[in-house]
Amino acid sequence: MPTLVKVQRGARVRKVCACGAVYFPRKSDVKRGWGKSCSKSCAAIKSNKETGKYERFKAREAAIEDGTYDPDNTACHAEGGGWDDHKF
Ligand SMILES: [Zn+2]
Repeated sequence: MPTLVKVQRGARVRKVCACGAVYFPRKSDVKRGWGKSCSKSCAAIKSNKETGKYERFKAREAAIEDGTYDPDNTACHAEGGGWDDHKF
């Protein structure tokens, strides 16, 4: 019986995230500027530090809970995940 080997496409590099976790993004992804965080939530924290997007998102969530959020206010609809949110 041959041993089933899971093929890992692409070399991986060892990186340490801002949160302290060690992770192994693909070398080719790092080259593209991806793989900067260990997880999506870390990427969100990181991008919030850079853009403040998450703060605005949380403010809107709080407004929904308070009942002060106006869904007809289209200015709020422009915000949300960036087009490149899949790039951790
Ligand atoms: Zn992390």
